Amino acid sequence: MSRVAIIGAGIGGLTTAIGLQRRGWDVSVFERSGANSQVGAGLSLFGNGFRALDAVGAGDAVRAIAGPPQRLTTGQRRRDGRWLATTAHSLISELRVVHRADLHRVLTDELEPGTVTYGKEVDGPLDGFDVVVAADGLRSPTRGTAIRYSGYTSWRGVTTRPVDLLGGAGESLGRGERFGLAPLPDGRVYWFGVVSMPAGTPFPDEFAEVRRRFASWHAPIAEVLDATDPAAVVRTDIHDLAKPLPSFVMGSVVLLGDAAHAMTPDLGQGANMAIEDAATLTCVLSTLPIKDAIAAYDEIRRPRTQAVARKARLMGRLLQSRNPLRDVLLRLTPPSVTARQLTALQQWSPPEVTLAA
Ligand SMILES: Cc1cc2nc3c(=O)[nH]c(=O)nc-3n(C[C@H](O)[C@H](O)[C@H](O)COP(=O)(O)OP(=O)(O)OC[C@H]3O[C@@H](n4cnc5c(N)ncnc54)[C@H](O)[C@@H]3O)c2cc1C
Repeated sequence: MSRVAIIGAGIGGLTTAIGLQRRGWDVSVFERSGANSQVGAGLSLFGNGFRALDAVGAGDAVRAIAGPPQRLTTGQRRRDGRWLATTAHSLISELRVVHRADLHRVLTDELEPGTVTYGKEVDGPLDGFDVVVAADGLRSPTRGTAIRYSGYTSWRGVTTRPVDLLGGAGESLGRGERFGLAPLPDGRVYWFGVVSMPAGTPFPDEFAEVRRRFASWHAPIAEVLDATDPAAVVRTDIHDLAKPLPSFVMGSVVLLGDAAHAMTPDLGQGANMAIEDAATLTCVLSTLPIKDAIAAYDEIRRPRTQAVARKARLMGRLLQSRNPLRDVLLRLTPPSVTARQLTALQQWSPPEVTLAA
């Protein structure tokens, strides 16, 4: 039986573990944090993420916590609530927002008990494994390459009770700041505020800063903030990789998820890409000899993930822009352009790999 070590029990590491364990691999996952230590708020999963979850056999378990499709108007609006651009429901019919902690729980439950060793920080080479998957995130010690600050920071939260979104979700845009609203399946609301400022800018009271900036924006933003426990709000400065990597493979070590291609969250695709990576790696490792499989993984995943990372950064720059022309551009973008972009983002199916004769 082939043996794989996976560094990191994030979304990428857990999904890889599920895929390979179901294909008969002996899987060991090492996670430096304790069990159930996942913080965070909501997470958007798109059609591509769900198809990749289906490919490893975890799609239905995740759909069960993701709830039915939403019929809210979504897109971008001004801080007074006037819509600049809306997105056709047909383009995001599979989009669901889940709570991160629920997703982690469901993915962990799909594994055989004891697969993940918690509280184990990997700080050197791992011997005795046929493949090592470094799914150790943005600051991957395995990768070592520098990260760069995007120019904006974020706060994320989830309301403690259901709040009526008054028919609308998506992002509302100010000058160098924006606020996002998304419904969770149980009626609670996942929200995020994003503001351009130097990295690490300190605030004596983080939540007071969020209120100061956003509580006067359109309804129901003030109500959403009122319904949030300030202690559960997460502040994250947004980074991506300083440079695209020339390879996702180092000998028998494979980089996956944010470790390979950390991107800004402006397209809501980082975790979706990690899940696609996991499904692709599972597919090639169950079809090809190990050396060929990891070369194929690199060849298949690098172009797509690096293109998505580039687009995410450009989208972030546009959405954070202080230039009033930004709103004109959003209003005048033809729906066919948005449709093309969203379709390309969500187009994913398992790679077709066959053994050479
Ligand atoms: C504000 C914000 C909003 C986002 N929203 C979305 C969204 O809506 N949709 C989406 O798809 N993506 C979103 N993302 C991106 C998404 O969170 C990441 O892309 C995703 O979590 C990456 O998963 P991962 O498994 O690669 O890495 P991580 O989730 O970072 O997991 C890495 C794991 O490795 C562990 N680890 C690190 N080093 C070691 C070590 N030496 N030994 C053992 N364990 C180690 C860490 O503790 C961690 O658990 C967002 C990101 C941010 C910052």
